[in-house]
Amino acid sequence: MSAGTTAAAGVTDWSHGVPLRAGDWFIGLYQPSPETAGFWQAVQRHELVLKWCAGCGKCFHPKRIVCTDCGSPDLTWRQASGRGTVYSFSEVHRAPSPDFAGSVPYTVGLVALEEGVHLFTRFIAGPGPIAIGAPARVDFRVLETGQLLPVFLVGTAA
Ligand SMILES: [Zn+2]
Repeated sequence: MSAGTTAAAGVTDWSHGVPLRAGDWFIGLYQPSPETAGFWQAVQRHELVLKWCAGCGKCFHPKRIVCTDCGSPDLTWRQASGRGTVYSFSEVHRAPSPDFAGSVPYTVGLVALEEGVHLFTRFIAGPGPIAIGAPARVDFRVLETGQLLPVFLVGTAA
């Protein structure tokens, strides 16, 4: 794909014309794949969804296509609690592209959701500081690339 303004047939172009590359750098807009399309459609509704196994009820990351417990391929989308804790984090001080220049420093990392799934996300300091184990709650923000993404507000448990 050149410059990110066109998408392959049948693939939704979430970039809305925003270049996917800055010089030689891919700036990482999230693109839905067949197994994650339901997740991104939910994000557009400001909802966080995860996959649940219809066979055994276990919960999985949006990219999972088969249950690792019972082997069932029957995974369905269900709304997640949106609550979790900070599992790990890193503060970014160098902007990966000019789009991020006004945002540094910002914090990314893994949130451990109540459902047992870990998601890579942007953390935003809320009432409390960003720290391992701090409670976090999902919110939805349009970030530097112009894409609506789930982020987690730290220090807000409910
Ligand atoms: Zn299962």
